[in-house]
Amino acid sequence: MTILDHWVDGAAWTGASARTGDVYNPAAGTVSKTVRLASTADVGDVVAASAAALPAWRDASIAKRQGVMFSFREILNARKEELAAILTAEHGKVFSDALGEIARGLEVVEFACGSGHLLKGDYSDNVSTDVDVYTLRQPVGVVGVISPFNFPAMVPLWFLPIALVAGNAVVLKPSEKDPSAADWIARAFAEAGLPAGVLNVVHGDKEAVDALLDHPTVRSISFVGSTPIAKYIYERASANGKRVQALGGAKNHMLVLPDADLDLAADAAVNAGFGSAGERCMAISVLLAVDTVADQLVAKIAERMAGLKVGDGMRGCDMGPLITREHRDKVAGYLDIAASDGADIVVDGRGVQPDGEADGFWLGPTLVDKVPTTSKVYTDEIFGPVLSVVRVSGYEEGVALIEAGPYGNGTAIFTNDGGAARRFQREVNVGMVGINVPIPVPVAYHSFGGWKASLFGDSKAYGPQGFAFFTQEKAVTARWLDPSHGGVDLGFPRNG
Ligand code: NAD
Repeated sequence: MTILDHWVDGAAWTGASARTGDVYNPAAGTVSKTVRLASTADVGDVVAASAAALPAWRDASIAKRQGVMFSFREILNARKEELAAILTAEHGKVFSDALGEIARGLEVVEFACGSGHLLKGDYSDNVSTDVDVYTLRQPVGVVGVISPFNFPAMVPLWFLPIALVAGNAVVLKPSEKDPSAADWIARAFAEAGLPAGVLNVVHGDKEAVDALLDHPTVRSISFVGSTPIAKYIYERASANGKRVQALGGAKNHMLVLPDADLDLAADAAVNAGFGSAGERCMAISVLLAVDTVADQLVAKIAERMAGLKVGDGMRGCDMGPLITREHRDKVAGYLDIAASDGADIVVDGRGVQPDGEADGFWLGPTLVDKVPTTSKVYTDEIFGPVLSVVRVSGYEEGVALIEAGPYGNGTAIFTNDGGAARRFQREVNVGMVGINVPIPVPVAYHSFGGWKASLFGDSKAYGPQGFAFFTQEKAVTARWLDPSHGGVDLGFPRNG
């Protein structure tokens, strides 16, 4: 059985911990490799390696750091199929979707290639007689990145390019469920010329995460995962004096007004509800259908679902398996809850016939109509291929439901009424809004992040906010002395 080691100082590293975790191929239901699970002491060694690599990288010119990013961009682009195959093998998402995930990560790499502009400071000439004030943007130091299972390449690539090009040393702790993508990325960075130790990958579970949260040398934590863990990360790392951005879970609603093109809305609901088996933080999991068009919309969605092929991600299917057997069982359990809460199961994914191994973690696309908003099917983040329909009387009731929810990651409105769309974008209390766009993930030069329980901290991922997070500003007040500046004066400096 292959064991995946940590990646430290530019080489595979075993660490001292004897603990390992199983990595599955979810389309087969079998263990494909094991991964090392670091101890607290191992994390200490990894952080020390990062701290040792930091000074030379921090002092490398912007041109040199950008040069590494340009080379990494070429490697990633040329070999993206290799990485996509790893994603499909360990996460289960279909190959075309894996390529889509990489494309969105590549965008951030390209954004980081032009980082000189975002690393600039300001300059104010002659603020007082012969005095100038200017700012420098300097790296934060050794930074920690902790990523979830559902985007094993894209989420690390939301943070690494910006943190690295800004001159930080990064310790990445990927999800132990699908850790190989992080190893691939670290090796590709090494090939691109990133000096050893500047990007270290430590594999592990809670013990490794806690060690990063508590380590005094780690100056910031970027986390993406479920809301309870995001809150925990935010509280513990903040209490330890670190900068923290902790992105959490979601329950994204799509509101379809009666004037919308119902065919396009049905296409969008199916794509955003079942892509990546619903294991996306920007998946649409609730469809708010206005009563007058709800029957038609549900029928159109069910019709499209009948054509979806579920199976092994390398066999040209539309949707793959779920990440683990336990998660598949948990998601399927919501269908029992739906039935006992009085909802209508219009399409039941439990009977799916997959194009894949019998022991894979399969659950087909599922559509549940008339879901009561008191049901756990509505209130929980299910994180699977279950689309709930809630019928509403109109715009006001739909928006009120979105606003009352605990999460605020993404939302979408489908309408041909510009006034309604404009009102929606202004008043809805959600961080990312789509207008006739079901998965409104911003491009790399804007920033990504939700509101409410979908983000703890005050900094979104990538874009300008990413650069603000991974740099600290220093203000310099300078005067080049000449004899006219002499004299003793104990008063607080005033400008004149
Ligand atoms: P998770 O919270 O279980 O795990 C995320 C990371 O935290 C992993 O690296 C894991 O090892 C670590 N972790 C897990 N339990 C921990 C604990 N008790 N203490 C310390 N560390 C712990 O999340 P997941 O299941 O890997 O990912 C799915 C979740 O991530 C969903 O809730 C999804 O909405 C969310 N997500 C959010 C975004 C976003 O941008 N808001 C993006 C992707 C995923």
